[in-house]
Amino acid sequence: MKGEIMSTLYNRKIQAIVLHHMGDGQSPSVSILKRWNPHAYQFPEYDFGVEADGTIRQGRPLNYQGSHCLSDKPPYSQKGDQWWNQNSIGIGIAGDFTKFPMPIAQFNGLVELVKKLMSQYNLTLDNCYPHGQVTLTQCPGCTYSKVPALKGGWNYDAFETAVKSSPVVPKPTPVPTPVKPIIKPIINNNKGVDFKMDVCIVYFSPSDFSSALILSRLNGNCAMFCRNSLPAVHADAMKSLKIITVGGPKLGVAGEVYLSGADSAKTLIAVSNYLQGK
Ligand SMILES: [Zn+2]
Repeated sequence: MKGEIMSTLYNRKIQAIVLHHMGDGQSPSVSILKRWNPHAYQFPEYDFGVEADGTIRQGRPLNYQGSHCLSDKPPYSQKGDQWWNQNSIGIGIAGDFTKFPMPIAQFNGLVELVKKLMSQYNLTLDNCYPHGQVTLTQCPGCTYSKVPALKGGWNYDAFETAVKSSPVVPKPTPVPTPVKPIIKPIINNNKGVDFKMDVCIVYFSPSDFSSALILSRLNGNCAMFCRNSLPAVHADAMKSLKIITVGGPKLGVAGEVYLSGADSAKTLIAVSNYLQGK
């Protein structure tokens, strides 16, 4: 229902949306274009109109102050009776919903328009009002649990629920959980004297070189030591967190993993089993 006609160019700061019906006793099927500016003023009272089939009409240009709602309830009345016209978008819905139900297409059109405006002006449902929530009127002919006095042919609670419902978006393809690697990636171990080894591979014979190399490639901070059949372990090897002995005699040091077969082929099998966690 109309408020006061004003066509003042106004630098508006949109802070709210107010919903109206025409309240003129006519059904939704009568176009908004024939009913939202009955006195043929320069502009309709409303910024947008919603037809029975959900079509959205542009009414008053948004840079003009509206004329759809006067304040008669605190706190807005304390800001002046033009607060809503200055700071809110007025949506006029074709119909008189005290006499007619709202068609579903019109309901859906209204929902989509409000969602778009809320996004555009960074508003929420808390900034969206049926006219009768801010002024003593039956407009926009809806029922609303927060305003029990409102009665009409559509349900504002259902409207809020529909606005809150997110559009259907396809579910993202689930990212497979990466298999935890057993082995750290290869790191260049040429890091000088402060380099701390995680793993030291000790082997004794060139025939076990391949097995030792596989282990070193599949371990993290790692060094290989060939003992050339000498049983003593280099002092640097003792700094490592873990020593893996490949072939040859068992060193008997703390944390040693001893992988040795009767020959280099059997040693390679032992290394393979170890890498597979067997
Ligand atoms: Zn109204």
